[in-house]
Amino acid sequence: MKNVTGLTCVICDKTYPADYAGYVCIDHGNEGILDVQYDYDAIASEWTKEDLAANPDRTMWRYKPVMPVAPDAEVPPLTVGCTPMYDSAPLATALGIARVWVKDEGRQPTASLKDRASAMAVVKAREVGAEVVTTASTGNAAAALSGISASIGQKNVIFVPKSAPEAKIAQLLTYGSTVALVNGNYGDAFELCMLAAAEYGWYNRNTGYNPYMTEGKKTAGWEILEDLDWNPPDAIFVSVGDGSIIGGVHKAMKDALALGWIDHSPRIYGIQAAGSDYMVQAFESGEDVLTKAPISADTIADSISADLPRDRIKAMRAVTETNGAYVRVSDDEILAAMPLLARGSGVFAEPAGATAYAGLIKAVATGLVKENEEVVVLSTGSGLKDVASAMKAVAAAGTTPMVVDPTLEALKQELEKGTN
Ligand SMILES: *Cc1c(COP(=O)(O)O)cnc(C)c1O
Ligand SMILES: [Zn+2]
Repeated sequence: MKNVTGLTCVICDKTYPADYAGYVCIDHGNEGILDVQYDYDAIASEWTKEDLAANPDRTMWRYKPVMPVAPDAEVPPLTVGCTPMYDSAPLATALGIARVWVKDEGRQPTASLKDRASAMAVVKAREVGAEVVTTASTGNAAAALSGISASIGQKNVIFVPKSAPEAKIAQLLTYGSTVALVNGNYGDAFELCMLAAAEYGWYNRNTGYNPYMTEGKKTAGWEILEDLDWNPPDAIFVSVGDGSIIGGVHKAMKDALALGWIDHSPRIYGIQAAGSDYMVQAFESGEDVLTKAPISADTIADSISADLPRDRIKAMRAVTETNGAYVRVSDDEILAAMPLLARGSGVFAEPAGATAYAGLIKAVATGLVKENEEVVVLSTGSGLKDVASAMKAVAAAGTTPMVVDPTLEALKQELEKGTN
């Protein structure tokens, strides 16, 4: 990995060697998340936009030169990355802005963006010869680690809150992981996973702890830039729980800037549920996220429910360094956004995915996004992950199916009522 020069603590800037065996800064413990540093001059001298365009690999690994893996690193066989990004004229018209693209991460192998991080996790685990990989998760990171591990026969142990949506738990069990349903919330699952990983020496994939997860997630940002032929959009909308995805999107922009492939970064907007709005609170009050106390999170968008966003330092910088903002939306607004997004783009998102679109609606209403602007909405996970919430969303939208006897006559009668 000659492209990696070291790992730098986000708090003190102390730099560790590229082959550092720890996860976090020694002086700052679990808060001292490390950021992977690259030798951009060396990368730029060996890798061009044309090289990338000519690369037939249609997975996230097409960006290997800016990833912390060896050029010949063996990667899992599932097709992770290169998800479609749709130019949705109906959404742009509905919002009264120039353009809306929706990037559909529901199209990943386990149906969320987390596959990008988990694919990275198993590659890094193999590098160090780990026998077992573990993670705590609200559900999607777990499903991702579970599915990708299954594809290579990697043993793994998963910690999720017992309350995780059924579809996510079904994925874990079907893929054959060792699953611990924790009596508690995500924070409790996280702490237990940390203890178990230390006790048993398991490779730890935890978000906002393992420095390489953001480096996997950032490939979503790289794809946005490549799809738009290196003309950055005005803004990118991302839902935020632990803040690792938004940090990754920001990292992609910083990478591309450092290589000279783009000349400015889009504004990055972080969207949180009102019941899990730690970052919005800190953004509004100017409080230091290093010392701000945890909140007590509660939202229908389970994937972004976090008392204390683990990757909050990177998450705050993603917004402040790009002139974006943190925006909160209510659970009702999230539910309302689900059918709006689906009907305007064909993308069926779970609540945390539609949260980004709910944030865009709010940002247009409050003037953060102007009518001449072009915006990317990162839809982070499939609606099939949480069908119960989808049914709530359509009920709230007043959508009801016809119930008909199987005769043309009965159908005609129902259609004439015109309720649907
Ligand atoms: C994990 C997740 C998020 C939030 O990502 P963070 O890195 O925790 O901020 C958003 N949406 C979905 C669907 C997720 O699974
Ligand atoms: Zn430090």
